[in-house]
Amino acid sequence: MNTVFFVYYAMFFVFLTGCSDRSGKQGAQAAPILLKDVKMDNKTTELTDLQWKQNLTPTQYNILRKKGTERPYTGKYYLKPKKDGTYVCAGCGNIIFITGTQFNSHCGWPSFTAAELNSIVERKDTSFGMVRTEVLCARCGGHLGHVFDDGPGPTGLRYCINSAAMQFDEDEITEK
Ligand SMILES: [Zn+2]
Repeated sequence: MNTVFFVYYAMFFVFLTGCSDRSGKQGAQAAPILLKDVKMDNKTTELTDLQWKQNLTPTQYNILRKKGTERPYTGKYYLKPKKDGTYVCAGCGNIIFITGTQFNSHCGWPSFTAAELNSIVERKDTSFGMVRTEVLCARCGGHLGHVFDDGPGPTGLRYCINSAAMQFDEDEITEK
């Protein structure tokens, strides 16, 4: 009796799934886009909001496109990696920071004293009742984090960047 019920139940489920597939669910599936090939600058992008959503993880989308902030000490890169490498924008692949300028600031986010030349743009941000300087990717306009003037070294700057807005590429060691 139980088995028969189960079979009916299973068939009902298959029927349902089949129906929803035919009702255009597959048509809504986005073709993958190679973000690094998309033409864009920090003010305009050929991608729609929906395309961004489909090409980023929910966390990346929330930070890069909606100016969100990850909770401190939760990101992948808040401690300087043991090996040297390059950080690229998770939205478009633009090289934005290198480990050479990264330092452990103990604020819970990856911190850098400088960005790569022409890789970022800065904008005054008055949200949340504070006056801060927002850091955006110069290529895709994605929100990366903020820059403060309490950093060490010659620049005195601390670029406080969300881990999820970046992808770390370890340097390849070439044998001589
Ligand atoms: Zn970008």
